[in-house]
Amino acid sequence: MKAQDVAACWQAMGLRQPWDDSHGAGEALALRSPVDGEIFGHLPACTVADADARIARAHAAQTTWALTPAPARGEVVRRFGEALRTHKTALGRLVALESGKILQEGLGEVQEMIDICDFAVGLSRQLHGLTIASERPAHAMRETWHPFGLCGVISAFNFPVAVWAWNAALALVCGNGVVWKPSEKTPLCALAAQALLDRVFDEAAPQHAGLCVVLPGGRTLGAQLVQHPAVRLISATGSTRMGREVGMACAGRFKRTILELGGNNAAIVAPSANLELTIRAMTFSAAGTAGQRCTTLRRAFVHVDLIETVTNRLRQVYARLPVGDPLQEGTLVGPLIDMAAGDTMANALAACRAQGNVVHGGERLLADRYPHACYVRPALVLTDTQHDTMLTETFAPILYLMPYTSLDEAIALNNAASHGLSSCLFTESLREAERFVSAAGSDCGIANVNIGTSGAEIGGAFGGEKATGGGRESGSDAWKGYMRRATNTINYGDALPLAQGIRFDL
Ligand code: NAD
Repeated sequence: MKAQDVAACWQAMGLRQPWDDSHGAGEALALRSPVDGEIFGHLPACTVADADARIARAHAAQTTWALTPAPARGEVVRRFGEALRTHKTALGRLVALESGKILQEGLGEVQEMIDICDFAVGLSRQLHGLTIASERPAHAMRETWHPFGLCGVISAFNFPVAVWAWNAALALVCGNGVVWKPSEKTPLCALAAQALLDRVFDEAAPQHAGLCVVLPGGRTLGAQLVQHPAVRLISATGSTRMGREVGMACAGRFKRTILELGGNNAAIVAPSANLELTIRAMTFSAAGTAGQRCTTLRRAFVHVDLIETVTNRLRQVYARLPVGDPLQEGTLVGPLIDMAAGDTMANALAACRAQGNVVHGGERLLADRYPHACYVRPALVLTDTQHDTMLTETFAPILYLMPYTSLDEAIALNNAASHGLSSCLFTESLREAERFVSAAGSDCGIANVNIGTSGAEIGGAFGGEKATGGGRESGSDAWKGYMRRATNTINYGDALPLAQGIRFDL
């Protein structure tokens, strides 16, 4: 029973517990920790009417927030960052309990929220436009940025709070409210993070109460958010299936989208690779978070001269990876989110065996101790061809190893996936490294050299191409996604010259 542990996190943050330990009724949302897989309580459902009322409130608050000076908006985000610093341990533990990631990663997720708040606070004084040279005498041209409008955020279970924070911190300083539909598998993390933000608004900006709201529930609430006319932008993180549905619904309504979808990320291990570094990086990226990151390493193309060495070394490391309770010190691999994820992994491995691949690991562990939870040994699959199963994102710790002979071939194999999120090359050759990150190299949104595919920093723009959706969040100039660009031309003369020299004499 993880109920007491979860309740302790809430108490440590000084929050009122929103669930009860009843068996639930009607559409109540069941609460389950993947650590033991048992249902420990129910949340009252957010109904269609509740959701409409919350969206209407956020929409009403949007008008005044958009007119509040950006540095004053940044001050609210600064205070939120402080609240996260104060409650990092409790919120990080809650993330570990509800999503199953190890405590270190739960804490890292909250740190990412703090980092993006810091970034957004700086940004709140730097929402710079341009001045542009006009071709007409006595004319000035400018580009200015304005709040885009109410933003909807749909998030996945595997980053239950950080992805919302990436969006919310930027959306807020850019002058927008945020309506959040979190994963139905991790509603408590969302309610806790939202409650911390609500407390900041109560204390620092009560006149803007209701600007940010949360809608705990399933995908029908997500669909309601997508269809709501008051919501101008949808930032959706999750499967490619979900992104396709959300993207098409938004296109029909001319809404802006930021789509952060699946990945099938690859590493290339070149002959000159530093193997100590390579094996550590591959293991963290492939087995860390139990293979449940969008940036998880799933495919490795290893130079034919190294394939045996790399396989043997990974087998040795994988055999002693500590798999178990994610809250326990020393555990490196926690559980899969649920039994269905375990079935999907087993089916993918069976398909690999059926086509003659050799599979190491992948078996279920700790079933006696946790009959309702799904712990697995991360798997290695040796293959000579990049088959359909390998080209499908299985959200579990499966790493395919395949030999290659030339860098051109390896880059083509990397780019053959329908997704285009993250990729990396291990090499000591400057020529190979530059080739990989050039236009003729990886076609992914993230192309790394001598680090793995996962573990991005907030300073860079995060996202991927093709079936990953094409969105960009977080650092760099991703803030522009939450603003409306206006081009202004100001005539400070007393004549009316037309552009392109056009004459229109009356
Ligand atoms: P999921 O697609 O099942 O659910 C994600 C969210 O979308 C949930 O909140 C769900 O309720 C909602 N949803 C589902 N269908 C919807 C619809 N038709 N309309 C509106 N909302 C809908 O994904 P998941 O299992 O929670 O997460 C795993 C997936 O997310 C993986 O594919 C992973 O690669 C991807 N992911 C991507 C990123 C990224 O930044 N690219 C980050 C994290 C996870």
